[in-house]
Amino acid sequence: MKIVIVGGGSIGTATAARLGPTDHEVTLVERGEIGTETTAASAGMVMRAAVEPTPFDVGLRNRAWEAYQRLFEESDLEAERIGTLYLAETPAYAERLERSAATLAEHGVDAAFRTSDELTEYGIDPTGFDGSTDFDDGQVPDEFAGGLHTTADLRCNPAAVASWFAACARDAGVDVRTGVEVTDIRTRDGSVSGVDISTDTNTVTNTTHLDADTVINAAGPWAPQLNNTVGVSLPLAHTVGPMAELECPSSASQDADTTRSNSNPKATPFTILESKRYVRPGAADGSPAPRRAVVGEFNTGYAEESVLELDERDLPDSFRSDAPDVASLVSGFDDATITEEWVGYRTVTPDGRPIVGETKVSGFVVACGLTGLGITLAPAVADLVADAVAGELDREHLERVGPERF
Ligand SMILES: Cc1cc2nc3c(=O)[nH]c(=O)nc-3n(C[C@H](O)[C@H](O)[C@H](O)COP(=O)(O)OP(=O)(O)OC[C@H]3O[C@@H](n4cnc5c(N)ncnc54)[C@H](O)[C@@H]3O)c2cc1C
Repeated sequence: MKIVIVGGGSIGTATAARLGPTDHEVTLVERGEIGTETTAASAGMVMRAAVEPTPFDVGLRNRAWEAYQRLFEESDLEAERIGTLYLAETPAYAERLERSAATLAEHGVDAAFRTSDELTEYGIDPTGFDGSTDFDDGQVPDEFAGGLHTTADLRCNPAAVASWFAACARDAGVDVRTGVEVTDIRTRDGSVSGVDISTDTNTVTNTTHLDADTVINAAGPWAPQLNNTVGVSLPLAHTVGPMAELECPSSASQDADTTRSNSNPKATPFTILESKRYVRPGAADGSPAPRRAVVGEFNTGYAEESVLELDERDLPDSFRSDAPDVASLVSGFDDATITEEWVGYRTVTPDGRPIVGETKVSGFVVACGLTGLGITLAPAVADLVADAVAGELDREHLERVGPERF
């Protein structure tokens, strides 16, 4: 079978690496460079923590987690266990986190609920932000009612992981093409027959055609555009993901290290507030720089009609002005300043699960709508795509992640 994968982010490359060793003739087409769009914009967390996951969701993550364990053992890719801490600002959310900890622990995840008092172990002040903090929306958490902590969650360089998948795919015989755009998908009698591709050189645009029995849409936030070319309509929406890397003065970080080693033995994990803002220690590229941290916003709510143009790359002013205060959750980051900023787009679905499987157009398979978990889930999604291509996606998966579930 001839397969064309559209998109060279975490999903497209993981899928190519998975399909490479099969008997299929696989081509991956990426219009830019490997892993440089949403994948590079992400916080690079491979997450075990989840709020009120179902057994199915934990199972999907566990499947991806096992693949990542092998990958980080066998490759020279670096990943650091920094863990995740969800912080409750209300007692009601604390109860949800407590239930989540129990579910995760039942499924083999090293997760525990931490009471308000226990948060000091992570350098978090349970009385919330200090009085000088002034978030733009006025919603400054003045209490942390508890937290969900998982120990194993990894911080990695997601673009490097995508490049690794792409290299594995190449080694297995996949034709990985960058700087090539899929401009149209051709169908014949209701089945996919190929794609039109275009390559821009400095002055000339070359357009040509690739035959394909199967086309896999792994185009990330651009997936809806590709679906439109074959008349497939799926409930995909976008949310804006503003990000900033901050650096604190070196003396402050040294003070913080001393304080932590004396009284706060645990380093601050990836910390996500109930009100969605988060801080992840380390540099933008996922390296463990002690004076740097990344602040972001975990927006995953689905709103119909929220398919955006994807051209707005400026940080909202309110996010920029609040970022140093959010970073101050990491001890020693009280005077941090922004060194880098960017915006990525999440592609979200009504039920928060990805959409994976063959659509009503025979041979047109989607692997999109990763709802903020595309790094975490990439190897599991790749497995599901392989099952879908083989016509072996089982009933449970069709119901939970298949395109026909909506
Ligand atoms: C701010 C932010 C933080 C995040 N943090 C995390 C995190 O910590 N952990 C986690 O698990 N997830 C995280 N996510 C989610 C994760 O980044 C995404 O789910 C994941 O990167 C999606 O990968 P993808 O391959 O689907 O998309 P992308 O990485 O965007 O790849 C799609 C590729 O398709 C290419 N393409 C599009 N159209 C065409 C075409 N017509 N022809 C050829 N190529 C085309 C694009 O150039 C692009 O490279 C975050 C997301 C954001 C926005």
